[in-house]
Amino acid sequence: MKGFSYYTCADLSSATRALQELKGAAVKAGGTDLMDLLKERRLEPTDVVSLHAVKQVAVKGELSALATLQDVADSAWVKENFPAVHTAAAEAATPQIRNVGTVGGNLCQHSRCVYFRNRNFDCHATGGEGCPALDENAFHRYHAIFRGTHCVSAHTSNLAPALMAVGAQAHCLHPDGERTLDIGLLYDLNPAQGKPNHLTLRPGELIRAVQLKPTPLARNSIYVEFRERQSFDFAVASVAAAVHVEGGKVRQARIVCGAVAPIPYRARAVEDAMIGKALDPAKAAAAVVADAQPLAGNQFKVVILKRLVQRALEGLKA
Ligand SMILES: Cc1cc2nc3c(=O)[nH]c(=O)nc-3n(C[C@H](O)[C@H](O)[C@H](O)COP(=O)(O)OP(=O)(O)OC[C@H]3O[C@@H](n4cnc5c(N)ncnc54)[C@H](O)[C@@H]3O)c2cc1C
Repeated sequence: MKGFSYYTCADLSSATRALQELKGAAVKAGGTDLMDLLKERRLEPTDVVSLHAVKQVAVKGELSALATLQDVADSAWVKENFPAVHTAAAEAATPQIRNVGTVGGNLCQHSRCVYFRNRNFDCHATGGEGCPALDENAFHRYHAIFRGTHCVSAHTSNLAPALMAVGAQAHCLHPDGERTLDIGLLYDLNPAQGKPNHLTLRPGELIRAVQLKPTPLARNSIYVEFRERQSFDFAVASVAAAVHVEGGKVRQARIVCGAVAPIPYRARAVEDAMIGKALDPAKAAAAVVADAQPLAGNQFKVVILKRLVQRALEGLKA
């Protein structure tokens, strides 16, 4: 690991100011993602700003960005009003990682693409040309089936699709002030060359908290995933879905898929087509995967995603 200066901030405002001054500094919350990237020398910042001392763990009304995944999984309020978010947090990673990994870090975690994670390869995200994952002999198993222009990595956050399905928003803090974004707007499918993540956050900007509003849609939400090891693993594919049904007709629907695109994949056209009709899980599931463009090594993900969408919608109150 390359040496760096380490700064500890007691609150998020001073962290955003430190980040603005220390151009190119990395942020460490729980560190479960960042430390791997530093050890692998994929990121080599001169400065690291730690949020470890920030005391902010609210999990009611809003989720603090510093709340751990376990804080979210333990919250009765989240479980009752946002079942998709509760399941997504409770099923992520291992107990050890859930105890230190934070909400903000989970939303901002880097791609798990094996080529991005290996400093012997270059790609669009590291400032290079092309995508090693598109090589015909590449290892495609865990890559995207809905592609970006330059990137076919899969976004593996459990929380992002679940929070999008329940209509959550992120409060983002910058030295110039605070702004509020729908969770989906935190992500950019086609970032600039050399940008190591798919985030729309500006330099120095941090997620302060995630706002959750209990609604009929959010209460009728679900998160399902397929992973290879049941003990712990990243999802091969995941689906967060939510519907508000009245008088047998869908009034509102959200279907957000994880681990199938470089950012959480929201099936907006399918959601729109469901409005005003009876819930038809099989039809919606077929429509979600209709535009999939799998790689040679991950065609199985299309089948898995279709089954997950159907299973998720069948698990909701119609
Ligand atoms: C073995 C293993 C298994 C895992 N399995 C899963 C899984 O099944 N599902 C899943 O979703 N994840 C999984 N993860 C990833 C893990 O959940 C996330 O790494 C964790 O939630 C990240 O939180 P953190 O606080 O440790 O982030 P950090 O490592 O501290 O930060 C990660 C990134 O987020 C940025 N960041 C952190 N906080 C903020 C903030 N408030 N505002 C803006 N940017 C911020 C940092 O700058 C950094 O770039 C796994 C990780 C490992 C190592």
